[in-house]
Amino acid sequence: MDATEDLSKSIRDTGRRMTRQRRAILHTLESVTCHPTAAELYEMVRREIAGISPGTVYRNLNVLQELSFVREIRTAGEPTRYDARVQDHPHARCSNCGCVVDVPLEPDVCIDEAADELVGWQLTGYSVQFDGICPNCISKSQAEKGDSEGPWI
Ligand SMILES: [Zn+2]
Ligand SMILES: [Zn+2]
Repeated sequence: MDATEDLSKSIRDTGRRMTRQRRAILHTLESVTCHPTAAELYEMVRREIAGISPGTVYRNLNVLQELSFVREIRTAGEPTRYDARVQDHPHARCSNCGCVVDVPLEPDVCIDEAADELVGWQLTGYSVQFDGICPNCISKSQAEKGDSEGPWI
């Protein structure tokens, strides 16, 4: 199904309207892979809709999240990031700059089998996060040090 039609319908079902703002927010989030924070997303949406306020972006982002069109990535002590890919998938997070990227994972690999071992549970999903240092931060640190040895290697 076309995601936008799907979205319009779901939003109508809840008695809310599919506004131009919501569409722009969702399209913007779908077009990037960087899992932006609400503030970063606002900066991107602002380029599309001049004069939109941060409050409008945050409010609509919450509505999209309630309707499961957007997923939150919460890390303690960090601003919440948003993802338009709502299926369960693993992330890698840079502990230096906080960037989050998707980790490609074939469906039905052993993660599902591992879940089968949990007797008596009714599972609703999973979240996997790898921690590390991203390539950008590694090369920045190497450039600053002026040698080829990063502090984390
Ligand atoms: Zn980084
Ligand atoms: Zn993701």
